[in-house]
Amino acid sequence: MAALPWICRKSLRRVLPEAVQAEIGVPDGSWTAELDRLLRTAQETLAQDVAGYADRRERAVGKRQYGLAETYERVIRNLTQRDLLGVLANRNVLPKYGFPVDTVELRITQEAGPSAGHLELTRDLSAAVHEYAPGAEIVAGGYVWTSAGVYRLPDRDLVSRWYAVCQNCGHFREDTDQLDALCPACQGPQSGAPRRYVEPVYGFVAQRAAPRRPGQSPPRRSWNGAVHMTTTAADVEESHTAFPSGHTLRRTAGARGEMVAVSVGATSATSGTTTSSSGARRSNC
Ligand SMILES: [Zn+2]
Repeated sequence: MAALPWICRKSLRRVLPEAVQAEIGVPDGSWTAELDRLLRTAQETLAQDVAGYADRRERAVGKRQYGLAETYERVIRNLTQRDLLGVLANRNVLPKYGFPVDTVELRITQEAGPSAGHLELTRDLSAAVHEYAPGAEIVAGGYVWTSAGVYRLPDRDLVSRWYAVCQNCGHFREDTDQLDALCPACQGPQSGAPRRYVEPVYGFVAQRAAPRRPGQSPPRRSWNGAVHMTTTAADVEESHTAFPSGHTLRRTAGARGEMVAVSVGATSATSGTTTSSSGARRSNC
């Protein structure tokens, strides 16, 4: 990274306690090397995602699957035209907590009635994947609104990933391509069909039908999901605690991990199967 502007150095000395300055290397400017590393990692991750979709687009063109190729092109547009601050916050370059960098909206169409235009329903993406999941009901402005699904832009497509949670050890893994049959953590076989989630970065859309007034029954919110760690954190520390009962607790802690919140939709009362999945990624500084 090029020489640090003096005004930046002066600001850091003014706002950071001396102990923090010493720890992160403000006096000798060594903190910029870590920032540079994080920026490059964010850049490489994005470049890898884009290259993966570009490769799939070319393969689709080779097979004359032009509609599929166009879908991949729209995903690339989604990835490359995202808001930079949001991308850097999600990749652990900028601090995120407290900053609403990826809030999404439940869009209500004007046809839904006169009150529709006055409502603004926004949530952080990791909460919205549960609260605005297709079929969920939200009470706002004196009416019950039902989410109809994820919102898409005509020239962009949503990133989707295959994922699996190991039934044996709980390890979570994901990829934009199909996953291996064996769990890389415990070598156990994957049980159940592979699942896929989309990142609803453009928000959700409410049903067009006129909303109803809230009644005696509570709004429908029987949504399931979980938050998983997706990347190994930096500065990992492992520790064990042995209890007199003979049980042991093993825990792992670290900085700069990445989590994904996956909503698997409503659980069907009769079959126990689940429906649509959507997920939100967030960093853990
Ligand atoms: Zn496993």
